[in-house]
Amino acid sequence: MDVRVVASMVIQCDECSQQLKDNAELAIHLKQMHQKMYCGACRREFRTMEQLNSHVKNFHGIINSA
Ligand SMILES: [Zn+2]
Ligand SMILES: [Zn+2]
Repeated sequence: MDVRVVASMVIQCDECSQQLKDNAELAIHLKQMHQKMYCGACRREFRTMEQLNSHVKNFHGIINSA
């Protein structure tokens, strides 16, 4: 996880720069705001649709027509 500790006790979300008070809050925030995407073939985890799409194309040779 890319978690940066800002100032003293504040954790900043890497995706949207929102500040959370602890790791538990960050975990909830990530789940609600930045739901992760998984490759259907190998269950690898991606943060963005672009990353997932290029992984699927490069690793599994599947091209999304949509
Ligand atoms: Zn965020
Ligand atoms: Zn995969």
